Amino acid sequence: MVEVNSPEKVGSVSVFAEASRLGHEQVVFCHDEPTGLKAIIGIHNTVLGPSLGGTRMWNYATEEEAAIDVLRLSRGMTYKAAISGLNLGGGKAVVIGDPAQLKNEAFLRRFGKFVDSLGGKYITAEDMNMKTSDMEYIGMETKHVTGLPVEMGGSGDPSPVTAYGVYVGMKAAAKKAYGSDSLNGKKVSVQGVGQVGMYLVEHLVKEGAEVYITDINRDKLAAISKNTGAKVVELDEIYDLDVDIYAPCAMGATINDDSISRLKCQVIAGAANNQLKDEVRHGNMLIDRGMVYAPDFVINAGGIINISSELKGAYNKEQAYSWTEKIFDTCMNILDKAEADKIPSQEAAMLLAEKRIADVGKIKLSF
Ligand code: NAD
Repeated sequence: MVEVNSPEKVGSVSVFAEASRLGHEQVVFCHDEPTGLKAIIGIHNTVLGPSLGGTRMWNYATEEEAAIDVLRLSRGMTYKAAISGLNLGGGKAVVIGDPAQLKNEAFLRRFGKFVDSLGGKYITAEDMNMKTSDMEYIGMETKHVTGLPVEMGGSGDPSPVTAYGVYVGMKAAAKKAYGSDSLNGKKVSVQGVGQVGMYLVEHLVKEGAEVYITDINRDKLAAISKNTGAKVVELDEIYDLDVDIYAPCAMGATINDDSISRLKCQVIAGAANNQLKDEVRHGNMLIDRGMVYAPDFVINAGGIINISSELKGAYNKEQAYSWTEKIFDTCMNILDKAEADKIPSQEAAMLLAEKRIADVGKIKLSF
């Protein structure tokens, strides 16, 4: 199994070497002088279908950092789509620069033209610093765009569906750890109450969980605590709480040497991408401590499931939620396999995704 999270390698590998190591089909560099657009599109794998993944705009310190980011993110999308049973491949785009200074209609439409030039091999959507209104501009130049506003027939904000998937995935992990999927009375800590965390807290409180929240945004924290009764804790305190479940919903790599030695929970299930700082090392450390980890790319797939519904024609919210509900069974199968094979759950999920890609790949005959 190839590592996805190896931040220490950034800056020390060539883009081609990394693309080869991770198994990419194509990497597209996009440059446009008049608008100042610099973007990279990573197409990892299209065996199951066209590659789908959001466009992230970020003021990367170096171009190499942007390239490495798009390679890892696009590969992650391959696994996410495959394990979710979608007929989609993995892709992602990064746009380099400060959104406040660069993003305007012409800039976004030029990016849309680049997406269009790939003829549907890559379908874009929102990601960090990209909004549904930006997708509208991109959509003026290409039909290969998703995440459009609901009023335009799109699926809109994916966060509520993502949160629902995290919630059902958490229930599966709770069943594995505690023998019951009920979260009633369970103590759950949620790190980050942004778009996803906020909706997750609502589900948890509704089911009778005792919820602890933290966020760098104090105003958001206060508002959510007032509305739901969730208890506010300090940023660093989140790792030391005596809780049953920890839900990382802010940034990646929060499961590391330091946090694992502090966490008292038996279950980790959250929305953040790339939660394990080192997939192999920290995956194994969680097994040694008897902790159940719901793999991030499995349980945060509600967003892509929601978007995939948009691709089938008119967006169907009911269909998106019922597909997302399957995350419970998918997560359960993965946790059972991990236990039976004595391997980290993340590895079990990746093996199942790879098997699906290999099996479906074989039925694609040329004639
Ligand atoms: P968001 O930006 O709306 O929310 C993130 C929240 O985390 C913010 O409120 C921010 O203030 C807080 N935060 C940042 N640093 C923090 C820290 N050090 N400690 C505590 N809180 C901190 O993002 P989101 O859309 O809610 O996504 C949350 C995570 O889930 C991200 O990692 C994202 O990549 C992932 N994810 C989101 C979706 C989706 O549909 N939105 C889908 C899949 C994965």
